[in-house]
Amino acid sequence: MSLTDPTTAADDLGRSLAPLDLQDRLTLIAREVPGRLVFTTSLGIEDQVLTHALAMAKLAGARGDDGRVEIATLDTGRLFPETYDTWVETEAAYGIRILAYVPERAAEEAFVRAEGINGFRRSVAARQACCGFRKVEPLGRALHGAAGWLTGLRAGQSANRAATPLAAWDAERGLVKLNPLADWTRERIDLFVRDNFVPYNTLHDKGFPSIGCAPCTRAVKVGEPERAGRWWWEQEDKKECGLHVGRPGAAVQPGREAAV
Ligand code: SF4
Repeated sequence: MSLTDPTTAADDLGRSLAPLDLQDRLTLIAREVPGRLVFTTSLGIEDQVLTHALAMAKLAGARGDDGRVEIATLDTGRLFPETYDTWVETEAAYGIRILAYVPERAAEEAFVRAEGINGFRRSVAARQACCGFRKVEPLGRALHGAAGWLTGLRAGQSANRAATPLAAWDAERGLVKLNPLADWTRERIDLFVRDNFVPYNTLHDKGFPSIGCAPCTRAVKVGEPERAGRWWWEQEDKKECGLHVGRPGAAVQPGREAAV
């Protein structure tokens, strides 16, 4: 992939990915994006599909600088026990290591001291501050020096994600952002998991289509949007944690809001 015009090159890559199946998409990404590739997984069901496909293609690597893809997760310290179970089960199933990026201790201690252990409920600003040190800052470390960032974002997950592209240049981070499941439906994800015996978080069977931190995720009711259980006490336009906007609290752009 040419880096002389990264925006055009990423758009071209997206067009090349469109007709391919998932395995071929990942193979092309590994071939065309030079440098370290990082896949950030929340261990949710879309990300489990990607982990499976990377493992089957022998593209799941330890450090992301050997032509394979580093698989990393943001361990916020507030995840569900079922999410840690999924983490363990996934490593065992595929013989891989999922690298953990954790919050800076001083930032966590300062937040809890000032706001309380669940102080993120006090205001949108406090919630964004919590997502900032638990997610956004560790994500920055995970992606530091990366040439490409793989995510499990799908266009069908929410209205904000409707324009999610297969590939796009992320000028703020200086890397190619790759969403190889962007055009998959939830039904296709579920079928893939079932047919390929992909390990998944058991909370998905208990009304949790989208799973994040335990205190900020609830089950959804029948007919509710997939992400209705995330930060349910906030207005819809405030419900992002900054992972896909580069800065905590920055405005959401289509296809660029929170992944986890
Ligand atoms: Fe904090 Fe909740 Fe954001 Fe997790 S989702 S980082 S607990 S505010």
